[in-house]
Amino acid sequence: MSETRHNWTKDEILEIYNKPLMELLYDAATVHRKHHDPNTVQVSTLLSIKTGGCPEDCGYCPQAARYHTNIEGNDLMTVQQVKAQALRAKSSGSSRVCMGAAWRNVKDGEEFDQVLEMVRTINKLDMEVCCTLGMITENQAQRLAEAGLYAYNHNLDSSEEYYKEVISTRGYEDRLETIDNVRKTNVTVCSGGIIGMGEHVEDRAGMLVALSTLNPQPESVPINALVAVEGTPMEDQEPVSIWDMVRMVATTRIVMPETQVRLSAGRTEMTREGQAMCFFAGANSIFAGDKLLTTPNPDVNQDMEMFKLLGLQPQKPFIKKMQPPTVEAENSQFQALGEKPKWSRPDHKIDRNEEAKQKAKAAN
Ligand code: SF4
Repeated sequence: MSETRHNWTKDEILEIYNKPLMELLYDAATVHRKHHDPNTVQVSTLLSIKTGGCPEDCGYCPQAARYHTNIEGNDLMTVQQVKAQALRAKSSGSSRVCMGAAWRNVKDGEEFDQVLEMVRTINKLDMEVCCTLGMITENQAQRLAEAGLYAYNHNLDSSEEYYKEVISTRGYEDRLETIDNVRKTNVTVCSGGIIGMGEHVEDRAGMLVALSTLNPQPESVPINALVAVEGTPMEDQEPVSIWDMVRMVATTRIVMPETQVRLSAGRTEMTREGQAMCFFAGANSIFAGDKLLTTPNPDVNQDMEMFKLLGLQPQKPFIKKMQPPTVEAENSQFQALGEKPKWSRPDHKIDRNEEAKQKAKAAN
């Protein structure tokens, strides 16, 4: 049960997901204990280094320029601003900083060079550095790796089938290609998804098939519960139940025994008891900080109180993999190639995305 398999089928995963809860929890906790210290939880801080104005149409996202949401956008942060935030995160127990930019894909140029400098700066603080910048080419992944990037996040969001109900501006194959590009470097892969977008349980299982059959499996898998933001196409979605969250975490743990399973968006809606059940079911990572890009997140002090209550310890950095060296820009082997990759644009119509776009037009 606890060996890493790369041939999980949807039926097998559904069978696990639908087990009687006590059995599911027991099985997941057993796998968890075999592969991880059950009293240690990784704490990551998510930093939005460039917020809003995104050209994509992800139906859950308030940063998509086409929807009318109340977020405050900002241009790319400076390296000094990022360094100050990273130091703050470190002093409050985070071992990883994940920098997110609301871009469709990375473009070679000044802004990417600035992000590379941010990666170098944070790696030199002896923190794990993760980026989530949209689609990237192999050369861009190599440049990030050289700068000292530890992980690259690129979520699959849902099953391939349901993805088409969420996003029309890019295809699932682009996601897999970017993950593949990251895999050609020594950067680890972080990829997960969101539940509560209106998908069926089969789609949750489908996403876990897509992730668990990657070889190697992603080193981190964030499981998000949708935060339904006003103005987005998913504003009316009902909140996901804690039982669904626990089942999803437990199933993820069983099919991906070695991965860090991260409780991500939606934690503000979860009680401590609910989170404790997720930790028991195999979650061993959280995002800390009062905001997750643009949506609310529990306060760091509350998280530390919860850790104390549950006897949990924040994980130290570089436990799973050695710290990568940082190569300075002037010594870099990989230069900007000015590539213009043809990422797909399926551009099919998604009714709720269209409606939200029309509403935004009317409001402006
Ligand atoms: S999820 Fe990312 S790519 Fe999609 S709209 Fe939001 S910022 Fe853009």
